[in-house]
Order: sequence, then C-alpha cells, then structure tokens
Amino acid sequence: MTYRSSWMTEELDVFRDQFRKFLAKDLAPHAETWRKQKMVDRSAWRALGEMGALLPSVPEAYGGLGASFAYDAAVIEDIESVVPEVTTGVSVHSGIVAHYILNYGSEEQKRRWLPKMASGEFVGAIAMTEPGTGSDLQGVRTTARKQGNNYVINGQKTFITNGQAADLVIVVARTGGPGAKGLSLIVVETADNDGFRRGRNLDKIGLNASDTSELFFDNAVVPPENLLGGEEGSGFVQLMQQLPQERLLLAIGAVASMERAIKLTADYTKERKAFGQPIIEFQNTAFTLAERKTEATIARVFVDWCIERLIAGELDTVTASMAKWWCSQKQVETADECLQLHGGYGYMQEYPISRMFVDARIQKIYGGTNEIMKLLIARSL
Ligand SMILES: Cc1cc2nc3c(=O)[nH]c(=O)nc-3n(C[C@H](O)[C@H](O)[C@H](O)COP(=O)(O)OP(=O)(O)OC[C@H]3O[C@@H](n4cnc5c(N)ncnc54)[C@H](O)[C@@H]3O)c2cc1C
Repeated sequence: MTYRSSWMTEELDVFRDQFRKFLAKDLAPHAETWRKQKMVDRSAWRALGEMGALLPSVPEAYGGLGASFAYDAAVIEDIESVVPEVTTGVSVHSGIVAHYILNYGSEEQKRRWLPKMASGEFVGAIAMTEPGTGSDLQGVRTTARKQGNNYVINGQKTFITNGQAADLVIVVARTGGPGAKGLSLIVVETADNDGFRRGRNLDKIGLNASDTSELFFDNAVVPPENLLGGEEGSGFVQLMQQLPQERLLLAIGAVASMERAIKLTADYTKERKAFGQPIIEFQNTAFTLAERKTEATIARVFVDWCIERLIAGELDTVTASMAKWWCSQKQVETADECLQLHGGYGYMQEYPISRMFVDARIQKIYGGTNEIMKLLIARSL
C-alpha cells in the first residue's frame, strides 16, 4: 500500500510534478559549482521565485501564492530529494524570515519586503546566534539603541545562514535591559548600510553550498520603522512563537533525506555484488534497510500530523521539538548505516550518500540543539 500524506491535494500534485522537473533540469546541474564556491547563485533564487517556490504560503497581495503551509512542506521535501544544496537557505528565507515579516510586520513592511523575497530579488537571513550566545538566546549582547530618531546597532553575529547573500537580515538585538524582555527583532537592509559588514563565509564540514557567515554591526543605523511588531521588547516572544515552524521544517527535510538515503542504498545494494550475490541478499543488509524504512515511515506519519497541526494553527513547541530531535537523530543514524552499506564507495564524494552523511550532522545542532529540544519536552512531563 502506498502511503499518501493527508495534506497532499491534486493541485499540489501538479505543482510538485513540474517543480521536481525544474529542480532536476535547472538547478541540480549547478550543485557542484555551488558547493565549490560555497554559495548558491542568485540566478537560482530568481528561478525558484519564478516557479512560485519562494514564500508559497504568503498571500498573493505580498507576492506569494496564497497557499497553505502544505506548499512550504512540499517545496522543502522536493528540494531535499533533488538538490539538497538549496534546502537550508530556502528554508530560512521562505519558511522563517518571511513569516516573521508576515506575522509581525506592518502593512508597509510587508509590502516593502515580501514581494522582493518572493521573486528572489531579496534574500533573507535571521541573525540570532553570537560568538558567546547560541542556545541561551536570552544572553544576546548585540544592542540597538535609539539615537535621535534611528536605531544604532552594535554587535557581532555568527553562523548566519544566507549571511553572504542576504539583502535583508532580521537581527535579534537588545533594545532594553538584560534578559528576554530586553530583546527586539529589527530588520537591517544590507545595501548601503555603512555600519554593516559581512565577515567570513565559514568553512564547514558539510552543507557546502550553503553560505554561513559572521556578520558585524558597527554603528549600523536603521530607521525606527524597521522594528518588527511595533513595540520594543517583543523579540523573545516572537522567536518562541515562530520556532515551532522552523523546527518542523527541519524535521520535514530530515524525513525526505532519510527516504532518499534508503532509496539510493536499496538501488546500490541490488547492483553491487559480493561473494557472488547482490549485497541486498545478505540478511544484514536487508534487515538494516527494513529497519530504516520502518523508522522513516514512522517519522513521516508523525511529521504529517505535525504539518496538519501547523496548518490548523495548533502546533505547539513541545510537539515541534519532538519532531525536530527525533527526525534529525534518525536522519543521522540512517545516513551512517546507508553509507556503511555502500562500503568504500560510500566514503567517496562522487556518491551522494557521502555528502548526505556529513550534511545530516548539523541537523542535530541548528534550529535549537537536540539537547535543548529535550529540555523543552521535559518541561511538559
Ligand atoms: C550551518 C549552521 C547554520 C546556522 N544557521 C543559523 C542562522 O541562520 N541563524 C542563527 O541565528 N543561528 C544559526 N546557526 C547557529 C545554531 O543555531 C547554533 O549553533 C545552535 O543554536 C547552538 O548554539 P551554539 O553553537 O552556541 O552552541 P552552545 O549553545 O554553546 O551549545 C554547546 C553544547 O552545549 C549544549 N547545551 C547548551 N545549553 C544546554 C543546556 N541548558 N542543557 C543541556 N545542554 C546544553 C548544547 O546542546 C550543545 O551540545 C547555525 C549554525 C550552523 C552550524
């Protein structure tokens, strides 16, 4: 019996069919170049925009498709299956940054930024993490102080996805005193901002086509209308409200990656022979793949339920945290075992499973580490 996600529709089938063909034909051939240059070309963002794959769940009035989160889920699944080099960047841009603007932006802010993000003219980033503060977001030290009518931002961010490409960065900055209540989200448009500087495009062990950067703010002047939500001190609450969607997107990518790893490995082990027989005929190989297929199916059913909850506006932090930690943990285990079944070839760059193995590893760390996920879940016990 073929399982079909409850949130799938015939309309989405048509969209996905075209979208997958586009990914395979127009984007996948450039993936190696992007890995080497450590970032995706702007033309890819534009092409994704033309396909309607950026900001699909944003209303048409702001350049989106006016669809539900099911479209975001489908886009991330398909990208992860065909050209995973683009997953993290698009996830941050469409699934996270755009939704902060949509949910907390004024009408003027939404009209100013969202259409450009939907077309790929603007790339978005979100800068929470600092050299001294990752998991403990309340410790953010970057400040945004009112000087005259403007905000003046000072501080340093690190590990920022899309940092090299970003035209627009949502900066988590301290507008008030210590702790969560002092934080605000302020949008920095990077063009012509003298106080903004991009640092290194960091060297990572995986996810090589995704630019991950240091960002520096040295008296970066930003107009007061770039504050998100209209009220200082709302930043931490806004982050907590949006993080379930970010975490679910990571889980969606994890499931797609597991399914791809299992498929690639099943194909490989049917072809490869040892001791005179295809290696899938060794019970160890078949059982390993059977176990992984079972887990991937369990993960998909759970994630589908989370997607339904999110579409209904009911996905809570605890459930999203469960999806994030468990699916990313299973993704890492699956990639490891599938690599093992490839033997020495699995360690070679030309076999996608080698990259899937290193790329998977970050999933347990970003978007809130899996330890932080367990802390959040434990509080509900
Ligand atoms: C490729 C990549 C892309 C990223 N993209 C972005 C981005 O776009 N925007 C952004 O803002 N950030 C981004 N990050 C940062 C990422 O979210 C952080 O690295 C992550 O939240 C962990 O923070 P940290 O690195 O400071 O680790 P730390 O917070 O120093 O944690 C180190 C270890 O201590 C554990 N730990 C910490 N606190 C506790 C606790 N209370 N209980 C138990 N264990 C604990 C952690 O789980 C971890 O194992 C990215 C990181 C990477 C590597």
